[in-house]
Amino acid sequence: MSRLFNFSAGPAMLPEEVLARAGDEMLDWHGSGMCVMEMSHRGKEFITIAEEAEQDLRDLMSIPADYKVLFLQGGATLQFAQVPMNLLGGKGKADYVVTGEWSKKATKEARTYCEVHVAASSEDRNFTYAPPQEAWKLSADAAYVHYCSNETIGGVEFNWTPDCGSVPLVADASSHILSRPVDVSKFGLIYAGAQKNVGPAGLTIVIVREDLMGRAQKGTPTVMDYKQQAAAGSMLNTPATYAIYVAGLVFKWIKRAGGLAGIAQRNLTKANLLYGYLDRSAFFRNPVAKNDRSRMNVPFVLAEPKLDAEFLKGAEERGMVQLKGHRSVGGMRASIYNAMPFEGVQRLVAYMKEFEARHG
Ligand SMILES: *Cc1c(COP(=O)(O)O)cnc(C)c1O
Repeated sequence: MSRLFNFSAGPAMLPEEVLARAGDEMLDWHGSGMCVMEMSHRGKEFITIAEEAEQDLRDLMSIPADYKVLFLQGGATLQFAQVPMNLLGGKGKADYVVTGEWSKKATKEARTYCEVHVAASSEDRNFTYAPPQEAWKLSADAAYVHYCSNETIGGVEFNWTPDCGSVPLVADASSHILSRPVDVSKFGLIYAGAQKNVGPAGLTIVIVREDLMGRAQKGTPTVMDYKQQAAAGSMLNTPATYAIYVAGLVFKWIKRAGGLAGIAQRNLTKANLLYGYLDRSAFFRNPVAKNDRSRMNVPFVLAEPKLDAEFLKGAEERGMVQLKGHRSVGGMRASIYNAMPFEGVQRLVAYMKEFEARHG
């Protein structure tokens, strides 16, 4: 068996240990005589799996007791609509910070539901930095403030948590949740699709402060109402059972790796290796402001874009795939989530050096 180093932005690599364990348990989970996929979501075996997954997530992120953890579906994209539907609470306005493709999409969807005030934007420099707090022009009458804490496509990450006073802060953390410690109490709501850093596609995690629930606008489908999902333990209907199970295995893997502090150290080591080389290189370049560079998604361009195809081909021959940049920005992008081993980044940097020596 030979596994590739998969640098995809998502669905992305999962820890080998987790996949092996899921494989071992495929035909018979803990003597149940069943695969988790075959279990009733209301049976005691699956309830145990879901409860343990939630508890492990709570432990990892130190989620305060007055926050609900929801295991939903529809991806982060559905949250672009679900957030305004649930959080506007009769107000007509929300603040959005625009730092790239994903926050632009969230903004666009929100305009269907309310007036969107762009409180800050980094469009002036082609979305290559995180606007500092001083540049945020918040509205006093906004129902909430939304931002994307890690822009997956542009590779821009907020390494600080904004302060929006009494207005609830909402974060799309899809591509860096569980990559570093975070103070959940500073947020009203955090959401993330699972397929970047948590587990299989199909699961969406929502962490929401209790007092923000129960004000969904008229017409909100029952499964999209946070309050009703919370009351039903995220099981108003059949949840993404297998995805929840694998996410649970990932949570335990992170715990073994030293929790979020431990995983953050590993991520920093990987990111430093790659950015360190990019900054020394005269051939490859990352366009993002140093302080705002993502530890998870590292876009870079070659001095000669006509060599892109050759670079990608050579990478594949060396067991590294999915390095092609997003169609909107071109170039390359290496997504180095929690499950990307250090050896994967080492192999990438060694190949980049070799490529630069040949073409630089
Ligand atoms: C991938 C991604 C999304 C979209 O996620 P889906 O689960 O495909 O809806 C939204 N926001 C961010 C930051 C992402 O990385």
